[in-house]
Amino acid sequence: MSRYIFVTGGVVSSLGKGVSAASLGALLQSHGFSVHVRKFDPYLNVDPGTMSPLQHGEVYVTNDGFETDLDLGYYERFLGVKLTRNDSVSGGRIYWDVLNAERHGDYLGATVQMIPHVTNKIKEYIGRPTNTDFVICEIGGTVGDIEGKVFLESIRQFANDIGRKNVMFSHLTLAPFLEQSGELKTKPTQMSVRSLLENGIQADILFVRSPRMLTDEERAKIGMFCNLPAKNVITSMNVDNIYKIPLVYDAQNVFDIMMEHFGITPPDGDVSKFQKIEKYLDADLPTCTIGMVGKYFDVPDAYKSLNEALFHAGIQNNVHVKIKKINAEHFSSTDCKDVDGILIPGGFGNRGVEGKIAAAGYAREYNIPFMGICLGMQVAVIEFMRNVVGVKDANSTEFSDKCTPVINIMSDCDTGNMGGTLRLGVYPCNILPNTLAERVYGKTNISERHRHRYEVDIKYKDMLEKNGMIISGISPDGKLPEMIEIPSHKFFIASQFHPEFQSNPFDGHPIFNAFIAASMKK
Ligand code: GLN
Repeated sequence: MSRYIFVTGGVVSSLGKGVSAASLGALLQSHGFSVHVRKFDPYLNVDPGTMSPLQHGEVYVTNDGFETDLDLGYYERFLGVKLTRNDSVSGGRIYWDVLNAERHGDYLGATVQMIPHVTNKIKEYIGRPTNTDFVICEIGGTVGDIEGKVFLESIRQFANDIGRKNVMFSHLTLAPFLEQSGELKTKPTQMSVRSLLENGIQADILFVRSPRMLTDEERAKIGMFCNLPAKNVITSMNVDNIYKIPLVYDAQNVFDIMMEHFGITPPDGDVSKFQKIEKYLDADLPTCTIGMVGKYFDVPDAYKSLNEALFHAGIQNNVHVKIKKINAEHFSSTDCKDVDGILIPGGFGNRGVEGKIAAAGYAREYNIPFMGICLGMQVAVIEFMRNVVGVKDANSTEFSDKCTPVINIMSDCDTGNMGGTLRLGVYPCNILPNTLAERVYGKTNISERHRHRYEVDIKYKDMLEKNGMIISGISPDGKLPEMIEIPSHKFFIASQFHPEFQSNPFDGHPIFNAFIAASMKK
């Protein structure tokens, strides 16, 4: 049976529960334990797929094509685990299941209630077997939120069901620093722990976000008010990079505290994987500037996985990657004067699309390393059709209904819709031998994650290829172009899929690694 760690948060939102959960997992993994992670979001959306990136940051996509909260991205990147639709569960989905069961008559005439019907449903998702030593469950939101109550009740019951010694409650709070009095205040933490207790949950370990290390006196004081040994009060120091968090925890013996809690003799292990990243971060290295031509720049997390993938590729290439945000809506070629490479990310809707097309053209003409992702590939094809092949009205039917539709919805192909109308999740792709794509991946069979509705129409393959843009990756049925490149260009590659969802800080991702390497050469 797996042991469980529940991660909750209090005082304020956005303290980094996802990174905290992932870091606990990293400590366990680095000592040889297997780990699975799940996220429970109390809000009422049935899944995060319809939520604007401007509200919750990017929509992350799992292998099985589920659109999830971006915290799943942290879990996958930190831990290398592959998560599924059952690992990102919202309140809306729980109620949806319960109400459907009610309509279906499954409750046999019983009065359907928060307890036990909703709580049982939540516990069912928590308890789905994983075959791992540990399951870490993060509960989204902040303790005290109305919609979170039933989730707290469920984890309380769950601990009681499987035995309290098999469960650890980890709670993340904030200790604000008051400039005027020069004091770090512990009261909000005490209140937050008390609020958890009102739900029948005693925190076993506390992570206190703070601008400086808590003193021993402060830890003892918090411990005294919160029923904890002082050593279980951990400072979650503000750091400049999230991959330093496992090290911050390690330095405060968090692994040993977990082992002591569960009654396990601590096995050997080390956090050298993260120490290597720390060393890279603190090293004095050259900078490589990537111009990212996009439009969701108002929210820091809207391009989360992409920023991560570029960072990871920097680690692999021993260079610090600087991202220059270029707003596609007012693109001008002077924006690209000081960049080493141009990247066009995914996107939806008309806004900014002509700027992206112009940026792809600039990269092509001036031989600047180029990488296009999803919409980024589509605009590269449109640009090439217009300006090299000479089909002036080439466009996507997403943006114009009076055009030569080089990008279109391919309704006669098995795009594997998962309920909505997007092609979602992992699909295989065959790579043509002797292409840049093959050199980049070092193999000809890959599988990558998708999130899009439109495709490059294979009908234009010959026209593109005769003029110098080749389709170097294609779906196994030969119908859906997955990658394109321009062999005469220094480095011009684009994919219909989103490689950023499978990048991690320890290996990077082949396309990003090669893109940064090419950009450094420029
Ligand atoms: N809007 C485009 C499509 O639906 C691209 C989507 C994306 O970039 N993720 O095909």
